[in-house]
Amino acid sequence: MQDTVPETIVTQYQSLPADAEDCIACGSCENRCPFGVLIVQGMEEVRALHMAKSAEVPRRPGRASEES
Ligand code: SF4
Repeated sequence: MQDTVPETIVTQYQSLPADAEDCIACGSCENRCPFGVLIVQGMEEVRALHMAKSAEVPRRPGRASEES
């Protein structure tokens, strides 16, 4: 995995209607994936990357998971 995330990818990620923050780790997608992709683990890694990056980029407004 790359150590840095290109800004274009960050911008595209922030435009998604749902992202790794919304994953509840139910495993439903892994059960159906024909390639055995470890999606839950990937979501956790993306979430960690996003948390590290969130100190650098503004958060999207209106996300319940980011409001406290
Ligand atoms: S584990 Fe897969 S199906 Fe379940 S919430 Fe996360 S991404 Fe969606």
